[in-house]
Amino acid sequence: MKIINPATNTVIKELAPETKESVTNKINLLKEGQREWQAVPVADRLKVILRFGELVQANLEELAALLTLETGKPIQQAINEIRGAHSRLVHLEKNTEKWLSPEVMTEGATREHIEYEPLGVIANISAWNFPYNVGYNVFLYALVAGNAVCYKPSEFATLTGLKFEELLLEAGVPENVFSTFIGAGEVGQYLLEADLDGYFFTGSYATGVYIATQVAAKLVPVQLELGGKDPLYVMDDVADVKQAAINAAEGAFYNNGQSCCAVERIYVQEAIYDAFVSAFIEEVKGYKMGDPTSLDTFIGPVTRPQQIDLILSQMEDALISGAELRTGGYKVEGAGNFITPTVLTGVNHQMRLMKEESFGPIIGIQRVKNDAEALQLMGDTEYGLTAAVFSRDKDRARAVLEKLPVGTVYWNCCDRVSPAVPWSGRKHSGLGATLGYQGIRAFVQPKSYHLRD
Ligand code: NDP
Repeated sequence: MKIINPATNTVIKELAPETKESVTNKINLLKEGQREWQAVPVADRLKVILRFGELVQANLEELAALLTLETGKPIQQAINEIRGAHSRLVHLEKNTEKWLSPEVMTEGATREHIEYEPLGVIANISAWNFPYNVGYNVFLYALVAGNAVCYKPSEFATLTGLKFEELLLEAGVPENVFSTFIGAGEVGQYLLEADLDGYFFTGSYATGVYIATQVAAKLVPVQLELGGKDPLYVMDDVADVKQAAINAAEGAFYNNGQSCCAVERIYVQEAIYDAFVSAFIEEVKGYKMGDPTSLDTFIGPVTRPQQIDLILSQMEDALISGAELRTGGYKVEGAGNFITPTVLTGVNHQMRLMKEESFGPIIGIQRVKNDAEALQLMGDTEYGLTAAVFSRDKDRARAVLEKLPVGTVYWNCCDRVSPAVPWSGRKHSGLGATLGYQGIRAFVQPKSYHLRD
């Protein structure tokens, strides 16, 4: 398997992918290792995980450089991701024992209590766009709860996946409790066929549905963190139109738009539409695109080369139907998967750009008359991950946000995740939740004890 640098299209490394036999052998070892890990007290498991967090911070520069090398993420954003992901460890340190300890429900002649047992050996099939964030959400929480983990990184973040394994083992996770499974979709398929105790997937809707269908008969927990077509509505009462445009552009183009909760479509009320659009375009034109190892680069290459054709085809489809290209719109000649940040106006919901996930540096901005029209358009999607409103008026923003069937809503912010609250998608954006206390309990199963002397 070739690991390719998306900024240069050169091969960084070649690795041998897993075979069906190696997958089976590793899973057998994990089953043994899990039984011993489960017997380790929660507090001791937590110490090991916290030690992993320290090792990551101690190796931050090297890890960030590796992330940039294999995904093309600009180095400053790679550093931000690794630092930001550490908040999961802080969350676990504060909350694990509280949410995993036994709970006494009834005292008396019959004492009733609940104990939380790990699921067993789980699969963590992960995405490449934020491997620290989305990886930690699953494998750290699973480990601390006493599970063993089959970690299948995306083929586009394999080297980072191998580093996770190296540092977890160095931190004290026993060898047969965490294993990285190298390879592309077919290795994921071997995991689906194996006898595992839970499937935790981050990726696209299409693969998510496939996985849920394939493992349905096992009747084990399945969690899916999937894509989105996340809307942002800018009301005409925003305190500062220019600042709103700057924040909206960052929500759309941070990590090259390759975030599950990136702003994917923008609606702006007509009184401020022209001012907003011109400030937005000025901001986007100012982004520095180029070498992702440079600290001042904001736009690097897109990670997967095939995404370029998807983005350009969404643009062409919109232009044919009357949209206007305001900036960007082409692949940069030469090596690397570089595509200029692209902004279209005059868009509508007959265009693929406003309905299909783009997952890249392109955005459509649509003019709306009022909150009712914005609400109707924001809800016109198969997805339900996040939605945002920028406004000075909290009640007015809330009246829109509370009606939308999404897992997360933002008022005067966007494109953010916090370990304090659950991360979940509705409709085609997923099933189940990570983070929050729900994300701690996601990796255990309750056992009820009825005890009489
Ligand atoms: P994919 O669905 O293409 O892949 C996700 C993972 O599934 C990868 O590890 C992939 O392996 C693996 N996989 C592919 N085919 C199979 C199969 N048949 N059986 C088992 N595993 C398989 O998604 P992307 O990696 O392209 O990620 C982008 C998507 O993820 C976007 O839709 C994005 O919105 C979503 N996402 C959602 C998040 C959320 O929290 N809601 C967070 C981050 C991303 P390989 O890559 O090696 O082929």
